[in-house]
Amino acid sequence: MSVLAPQDLELTDGSRIGVVGGGPAGSFFSYYALEYARRFGLEVELDIFEAKDFTRIGAAGCNHCGGIISETLVQDLATDGLVIPSDIIQRTISTYTLHTEQGSRVIRTPSDEHRIASVFRGSGPRGCLDTSLNGFDNYMLELCEKNGARVIREKVTALERSEDGITVGYAKSAARKYDLVVGAVGLSNKTLDLFKTICPAYSLPEKTRAYISEFMMKPANIEKSLGSSMHVFLLDLPQITFGALIPKYNYVTLVLLGRDIDKDVVQNFVQSAQVRSCFPADYPIDRIAPCQCYPYINIKQGKHAYANRVVLVGDSGSSKLYKNGIGAALITAKAAASTAIFEGISEKHFEKYYAPVCRDLDRDNGVGKLIFRITRIIQKSSIIKRGLLHQVGKEQSISGSALRLSAVLWDTFTGSSGYRNILKRFLHPGLLLGLIGSTTRSNVPPFNRNSHEKQKARQAL
Ligand SMILES: Cc1cc2nc3c(=O)[nH]c(=O)nc-3n(C[C@H](O)[C@H](O)[C@H](O)COP(=O)(O)OP(=O)(O)OC[C@H]3O[C@@H](n4cnc5c(N)ncnc54)[C@H](O)[C@@H]3O)c2cc1C
Repeated sequence: MSVLAPQDLELTDGSRIGVVGGGPAGSFFSYYALEYARRFGLEVELDIFEAKDFTRIGAAGCNHCGGIISETLVQDLATDGLVIPSDIIQRTISTYTLHTEQGSRVIRTPSDEHRIASVFRGSGPRGCLDTSLNGFDNYMLELCEKNGARVIREKVTALERSEDGITVGYAKSAARKYDLVVGAVGLSNKTLDLFKTICPAYSLPEKTRAYISEFMMKPANIEKSLGSSMHVFLLDLPQITFGALIPKYNYVTLVLLGRDIDKDVVQNFVQSAQVRSCFPADYPIDRIAPCQCYPYINIKQGKHAYANRVVLVGDSGSSKLYKNGIGAALITAKAAASTAIFEGISEKHFEKYYAPVCRDLDRDNGVGKLIFRITRIIQKSSIIKRGLLHQVGKEQSISGSALRLSAVLWDTFTGSSGYRNILKRFLHPGLLLGLIGSTTRSNVPPFNRNSHEKQKARQAL
C-alpha cells in the first residue's frame, strides 16, 4: 500500500475494502461496491466481518426488527435486478388495518402494484422448530458471497489507523489492513466507539429502546384473525408512538416504537381491547412470549460519519426516523459505494458526494418528528380519531375516490414515502377540508343529529 496525499485517496486495482457488519447496510454496500467496481473495470478485494450467524434461530442469528420490507425498497432493489426470492418472504402484506378506541378501518394499498413483504431477519424466533427458514440478512450476505465478497464470521475488536491504511483486528486471526473500512455495525455502542477512534469528528447516533415479540400461531388462525393485513394501533397510551402487529406465516410479530418502552408499557398495550381483538379469544396473549427483546432504534442521526478511508452507513450513519430503516440502509450504502468506487475515499470525497445524502435524510427526519407530534395529538383526541375513521371509511367505500387521507396514512405506516412528501400531501386543502367535514359530522351525537333531522323533516312538511 502506498502513501497518498488525502485528496488523491482512491481505490485502485488490488485495493482492499473491509466492511464491518453484515446486516442490510453492510450487505447493500458490498453488493453495490462489487457491482460498480465490475462496471468500472476495477479489481478490488472485499471482506465482510459479521459477528452473528444468521442461520441460527433466536437472538444469536437475528438483527431485531419488525421485518417489513417497504414497497419502495422492493421496487428499488428490483430496478437493480435484485428480486427478493419468495422463500424469504413470510407473507405479502396487501392492506393495513387501523385500530383506534373508536373503531377500525381497513386501508387498501393506494395502487394495486404496491405490495409489502414481511420477512424474518434471522432464521426464526427463539423456540421455532422449523430449521429451514431463510432470513433476509442471510440471503443478502450469501448473495454478496456469490458476487465475490469474502465473509469473515468474526467480531471486530480493534481498528487502528496508519498512514497507508486501516488495520482491522479480530479475535481469532491475525489483523488485516484495508484501504477503506466501512462501518455498518448498526447501533452497537462498543463497535461505534472503535470507529470514533479512527473517525474523530464522528458523533454517534442517539437511540431509544423499542420492543419486539413473536407470537406463534397456526397459519389458519393468522389468516382468520389478521389476514394479510398489517394491524396498526393509534391508541391513547403513554410512551407509544407506533404499535403494530405484523403477520408472518406462522408467527405474528408485535412491534412497539416510542420512548423508552418497558415491561409496563408493553403490558398496557397488549391488554388493550383493540390488540386482544386481533387474536383468537382463547389465545394466551398475556403469557410471556418466548422470543422478545427491547432493541435500540435511532432517534437522531450520527454526524460526520466519514473520514479519510472510513465511512459509516445504515443505522451507524443515517437512518429514517421509526420507519423503513432497511430502505435507509440501502440509500446510504449505495451512496457510499458509488462515492468510494467512482470518486474516491478521502474525507473530502465523502463530504462532497456522501454527506448530502445523509443531510437529506436528516432534513426529512425533521419533518418526520413533526408528523409524529401531530400523530400524538391525534392519538389523544377521540374526536379527531372518529373523524379520521369516518374519512378513511368514506374514501375506501366510494370507488374512484381520491384516497388522499388513505394514501397519506399508508405512506406514514409503511415508510414508503419521504416525510416531506407525506406532510405536503397531508396539507392538501381537499384532504384537510374532507377531514374537518368528517370530524364535525362523525362527532355530532346521534340523538342531536336525529332530532335535528326530525326537525328539518317536520319543517319540510
Ligand atoms: C423494533 C424495531 C422494529 C423495526 N422494524 C423495521 C421494519 O419493519 N422495517 C425496516 O425497514 N426497518 C425496521 N427497523 C429498523 C431496521 O432494523 C434497521 O434500520 C436496520 O436493521 C439497519 O441495518 P444496519 O445494517 O445498519 O444495522 P443492523 O441491522 O443492526 O446490522 C449491523 C450488523 O453489524 C454486526 N456487527 C456489529 N458490531 C460488529 C463487530 N464488532 N464485528 C462484526 N460485526 C458486527 C451485527 O452483528 C449486525 O449484523 C426496526 C428497528 C427496530 C428497533
